Amino acid sequence: MTDKELMEELSYKRNNAYLKMTESEKKEMNELCDGYRVFLNSGKTERECVKEAVKMAKASGFLELDSVDSLKPGDKVYKINREKNIFMAVIGTDDICNGVNIAGAHIDSPRLDLKQNPLYESMDMALLKTHYYGGIKKYQWPTVPLAIHGVIYDTDGNKREIVIGEKEDDPVFVITDLLPHLAKDQMSKKMIDGVEGENLNVLIGGMPIDAEEVNEKVKFSILKLLNQRYGITEKSFISAEIEIVPAQKAKNVGLDESFVGAYGQDDRVCAYTTLRGILDVDMPKTTSIAILVDKEEIGSCGNTGAQSAFMMMAITELIEKVNGKCSLTDLNRTISASACMSSDVSAASDPNFPSVTEANNACYAGYGVALMKYTGARGKSETSDANAEFVYSIGKVMDENGVIWQTGELGKVDQGGGGTIAQYVANLNMNVIDCGVPVLSMHSPFEVVAKSDVYMAYRAYKAFYAASF
Ligand code: MN
Ligand code: MN
Repeated sequence: MTDKELMEELSYKRNNAYLKMTESEKKEMNELCDGYRVFLNSGKTERECVKEAVKMAKASGFLELDSVDSLKPGDKVYKINREKNIFMAVIGTDDICNGVNIAGAHIDSPRLDLKQNPLYESMDMALLKTHYYGGIKKYQWPTVPLAIHGVIYDTDGNKREIVIGEKEDDPVFVITDLLPHLAKDQMSKKMIDGVEGENLNVLIGGMPIDAEEVNEKVKFSILKLLNQRYGITEKSFISAEIEIVPAQKAKNVGLDESFVGAYGQDDRVCAYTTLRGILDVDMPKTTSIAILVDKEEIGSCGNTGAQSAFMMMAITELIEKVNGKCSLTDLNRTISASACMSSDVSAASDPNFPSVTEANNACYAGYGVALMKYTGARGKSETSDANAEFVYSIGKVMDENGVIWQTGELGKVDQGGGGTIAQYVANLNMNVIDCGVPVLSMHSPFEVVAKSDVYMAYRAYKAFYAASF
């Protein structure tokens, strides 16, 4: 063996997945990403993603967990939590109390939520006040065509689902920005102050009604339209959940179509591949579970977030329906023996901003799915830091199943950071590791991922479900 060969053998090298994939894998990748783009277009909110997940689950023979009294190996069930969080399971042949394999992704994405009293008029224009949700760079949201999605109760007490701005002939909405000619003061501000949160007001109308006794004539016209079309009044907004999201559809990016560009890929890229992974599971040894959660972008809080007791309740119900009973000991045994992939995205190194990543420990678009032992910020704060044993066994499963994977941190040690649901799953006393797709322009209105990484994420979740830990 030459020294060169020995060096090759001794050193760790990452590979661009495109260089390692077979033609049939590339074909499968393209088919997967075609379906993924459709999913992104129909799932722009957590509620819509749950609906899509149910559609896909039902088509694959999943039944509502509440509708069955007992479960046996091979049975497929799902359970919905408040339309924003879904739990899916395929019962394994092994004793469920020996542990389950869980892949968990989040289906909420950064966006602008309407405030509870959003509508106002200024300079003969009607606008909607927003409160941004999650970590956004505020300057990215003006001058982008926007759509309105959400639920609102009409005056008769009916829940209405609203989607405006997605159909070809729908109008869209927009936040205006200052012309460069008059932006001297704005442009000399720090970027964080260039566009303020209180100025992210969405233009919704500008055609006044000639009503003499009414002061706010544009607001009046919009209220009339809203009432005619949806049966709502201004008060209806108080209980509503309305999200403002980019109206842009998912697209292939690049002459070679090697990337997918779309809003909301953090973390619907992992949600979709996790879904596709569990839909492929038939008669697993270990019970396979997928959970799609809400509220990750604001701390996994709330009754539909990863810190909610919902997952534990659903697992308890699963054990009860498999074994006829579930003692606290049964639940404890199951949870502590379980394995979890926190299916969430990582940052891809950006040729435009090479200085924020540390090359040896960064993820690269196209280099396969990213396994992250830890995330966090400021000295590993707010992370679960997976155990060596678990990281090793997950890596081994990936290698044995031909999954191309990489590892990397979010960025340089002192540059910042971020967390995922992993820390909350770890709190339950479960092994968990972050595993997902590297993203460019994360949290922007148009995020970008490499198709090979999407495909390898799907392969990773599939391999995970087939493994026992
Ligand atoms: Mn995420
Ligand atoms: Mn995020």
